[in-house]
Amino acid sequence: MTPVLVVGAGPVGLSAALALRAHGLPVTLLEADPRERERPGSRALFVHRETLALLDAMLPGLAAEITSYGRTWHTRRTLYRGREVYARTYPPVTGPPPFTSLRQTDTERFLRAACERAGVDFVWGARVAGVRTTPTGVSLTGEDGRVWTGPYAVAADGARSAVRRELGIALEGTRGEGFHVVADIADVPGAELPLERVFHYEHPGAGGRGVMRVPFTGGFQVDLQCRDTDRPEDFGTEEAVRRRLPALVGDGYGDRILWVSTYRFLRMVAASFTDPHRRVLLAGEAAHLFPPFGARGMNSGIADAAAAAEAIATGTGAAVEHFAEVRRAAGLFNMAAAGTALDHLRPRRRIVRARQRAAAALAPVLPWCGSWLEHAPYGPRHGTPAVAGRTY
Ligand SMILES: Cc1cc2nc3c(=O)[nH]c(=O)nc-3n(C[C@H](O)[C@H](O)[C@H](O)COP(=O)(O)OP(=O)(O)OC[C@H]3O[C@@H](n4cnc5c(N)ncnc54)[C@H](O)[C@@H]3O)c2cc1C
Repeated sequence: MTPVLVVGAGPVGLSAALALRAHGLPVTLLEADPRERERPGSRALFVHRETLALLDAMLPGLAAEITSYGRTWHTRRTLYRGREVYARTYPPVTGPPPFTSLRQTDTERFLRAACERAGVDFVWGARVAGVRTTPTGVSLTGEDGRVWTGPYAVAADGARSAVRRELGIALEGTRGEGFHVVADIADVPGAELPLERVFHYEHPGAGGRGVMRVPFTGGFQVDLQCRDTDRPEDFGTEEAVRRRLPALVGDGYGDRILWVSTYRFLRMVAASFTDPHRRVLLAGEAAHLFPPFGARGMNSGIADAAAAAEAIATGTGAAVEHFAEVRRAAGLFNMAAAGTALDHLRPRRRIVRARQRAAAALAPVLPWCGSWLEHAPYGPRHGTPAVAGRTY
């Protein structure tokens, strides 16, 4: 049997390869980077319960492996200008946790080891530059002239997908104003911060900017929401983060910075998730870009990967078409949900900030106001009607 081709060894490509192996199909995974690459940064920390279930179906035991390494916080807190407006601590669960939090590099480490165990054939240093599809298959050309052919290909080559570009499929959507700074900070051994996710509106230590702190195994991620008029060089460097950390998380973290990056709110979805011959299936950031708030990026990418593998295992044009329709509908829903979160986080209208201020003032007497401030930054919690019962 000719192997199915997967392009990209990010979390989505690795999941697609694993899911294809679970369906008994041979897989060749083509990755541009060398085998010994090191990817930086925590990026997608939050792995949702549904994603864990999908991964476990791809390789039984994988979810337990990931959750025993990751961290699950039981407390969520929201502050407004230094004052707590919401706090909730959930009792520890018995059985599988509702989510786990670990750096994306760690998730990828588990997925890569799982793929190796499952017999995925990796080709490192293979940058795909050309794509040709026919009614019976797909042929991929590397930038060095090598050619790989297969019955189907999953394009999981990320935001700048060469496969998507070669197929002439447009990414449609918007790019938000302003940027966020994201930094990974290692715990101080013996003096770890409480295991809680904290969102702080108009943080006094950040000149009134929004700040989120999310724990992961070994440290925490800080997300600083900069203003449209802020300059990345004043906020997005390691030195700038070092200067601000004492006011945000206390002293002692200046030499614990692991990674600093900046990102913008991109909301984009591919015009189609497949080619006219139904031989290439787009998944993950090759197919859609969402901002981190709401954790829709990797979680929905892994849902794409599972659905793509199922369609390929079915092996009909109708199954691929169904994949493309359903996952694009999910993408459009996620894009709209991210827009709702964005309207709250970076409001264009003064009334939204006024509402937040009023809710913060009323939260001590009207708990639903605190609850609204807690939940709104992430957008709606339910998923698209196109994928019954699923969040992503
Ligand atoms: C600050 C930040 C925080 C985030 N937080 C979250 C979160 O909490 N939850 C969440 O779900 N998501 C989050 N995300 C999004 C998440 O990181 C991405 O959705 C995820 O990395 C996408 O995975 P992917 O496999 O589609 O693409 P990538 O991770 O980009 O992987 C693509 C792979 O393809 C390879 N490649 C590229 N071009 C080629 C080519 N031509 N040929 C062969 N290989 C190629 C690349 O080298 C790479 O290995 C966050 C992102 C950022 C930036």
